Amino acid sequence: MHGRMMEQPLTLDAILRRARTVFGDREVVSRRADGALHRTTYGQLAARVDRLMGALQALGVRPGDRVATFAWNGHRHLELYFAVPCLGAVLHTVNVRLAPEQIAYIVQHAGDAVLCVDRALVPALLAAAPRLPAGLRYVVLDDDGRGADAGLPGALDYEAWLAQAPPPAAAVPLDEHQAAGLCYTSGTTGEPKGVLYSHRSTVLHAFGCGMVDSLGVAQRDTVLPVVPMFHVNAWGLPYAAALVGARLVLPGAHLGGDALAGLIEAERVTFAAGVPTVWNLVLQSLRRHPRDVSSLRRLVFGGAPTPRALVEQWQHEFGVPVTHAWGMTETSPVGACTHAGSTGLAPDDPADITLRGRPGRPVPGLEARIVGDDGRELPWDGQTAGELCVRGPWVASGYFGHATHEAFPADGWFRTGDVATIDPGGAIAITDRKKDLIKSRGEWISSTALENAALLHPGVLEAAVVARPDPLRDEAPVLFVVPRDAAAPPPPADLVAHLAASFPRWQLPRREDVRLVDAIPKTSVGKIDKKLLRRRLRDG
Ligand code: AMP
Repeated sequence: MHGRMMEQPLTLDAILRRARTVFGDREVVSRRADGALHRTTYGQLAARVDRLMGALQALGVRPGDRVATFAWNGHRHLELYFAVPCLGAVLHTVNVRLAPEQIAYIVQHAGDAVLCVDRALVPALLAAAPRLPAGLRYVVLDDDGRGADAGLPGALDYEAWLAQAPPPAAAVPLDEHQAAGLCYTSGTTGEPKGVLYSHRSTVLHAFGCGMVDSLGVAQRDTVLPVVPMFHVNAWGLPYAAALVGARLVLPGAHLGGDALAGLIEAERVTFAAGVPTVWNLVLQSLRRHPRDVSSLRRLVFGGAPTPRALVEQWQHEFGVPVTHAWGMTETSPVGACTHAGSTGLAPDDPADITLRGRPGRPVPGLEARIVGDDGRELPWDGQTAGELCVRGPWVASGYFGHATHEAFPADGWFRTGDVATIDPGGAIAITDRKKDLIKSRGEWISSTALENAALLHPGVLEAAVVARPDPLRDEAPVLFVVPRDAAAPPPPADLVAHLAASFPRWQLPRREDVRLVDAIPKTSVGKIDKKLLRRRLRDG
């Protein structure tokens, strides 16, 4: 027997309609290239989305076509987030920090028809331009409406183009299963792979982001997505904020610690999300220039291991509770999440802080398990580590343009490539990325665990651990450390002694394998670039 409920499709036009009608006067603030703040509302933004849909149609964009963006977080980018999928086309958000060859590769692979680029990013795009398809149409997003002379062949200026746009043709019928967005993984190994989100998965993910035990974005929030809109849809925050009516603050290209701390204070941000390296920068800035960040109720760390030391410093020095989230491009991305006090403890209870050093339970809607090399399921004992596998309605079922891929086996569980334990209560702790684990005499050493412990040393600002080949141990850990005070770096022997309090001897780096450095290289999305560190070690 069938249920008798309405078959309302889960499509993004419903989120836009809600933002327009229910939250028409809620504010969207974005930082312009010159640093000034631009203020608009969801209502005004929705009216511009209508014009943009007309402009895209007049340019020949049809359902299924790919429209690329190459832009920081700003209100024009947000307009594209709605106009492109609501036309039935696919929004392809290109990572602006990729190398020119990677940009050219993914624009070609995606088959983009139009590319909308921030004026300030035109030079980065020009480096890839000779390898971009000849028929690609460029639109330049410029605060001063002078995008047409930014140096790209045949480019349109976004504002002039919108001003002349015909009204959009009648609403395009949307199917919830059709593609809405396309995002390529950062591709630390091999070619980047595209993940094609559907309207349905994007809407369900936005619903999920509103649940208190997921990101918990709410109407009362002022949301600052520091995570770029070119990285997994800024973790779904633009759509989730519009759905729940949260105020949005978009930081543009101004991503330094001081700029972000200032924005949090000035706009009374309650909810901010970014990778741990960003929150470490903001923490250092706040130590130098104290500011009032007491408005923050959720500071989300995600996308890379969250060191316990940082959770503790934010809690104790600034009273800000850290939320730890785990996810991937393939999981839209929010997959697991732990908040301050989610288990009933006080946020400053050391046990609660320890709990927030791991992602915790999968968010409602997602299921997780761990498997061994033979693919057999492993026990949830909090000890046994295996490859983390997930499934759920916002998890990809394959890569764009790949008929099959080993990460998507027939059992229906996506193989994440992350190694994790799961405790009897279902809480996930990530041990490492499979390829970052260190194998010493046949036993595994977690690089993440060593980094977290190193960060608890008072002289350490940043830490990274990678393997080097070793004739006796197969692989040995090498610890890179950025000292807190370059003039008085901690002696390597001290650091090893500090680690020896928490690790057996065979897991420790040797004193000669502690490298004091000025900086640790980061990937295009701000994570520690272990591939580059390994290459530097290999090349001496
Ligand atoms: P991306 O698809 O670029 O967002 O990268 C996803 C990868 O980032 C995951 O497979 C993990 O290796 C890593 N990652 C994301 N969140 C966390 C986390 N909370 N703890 C540890 N690693 C994480």
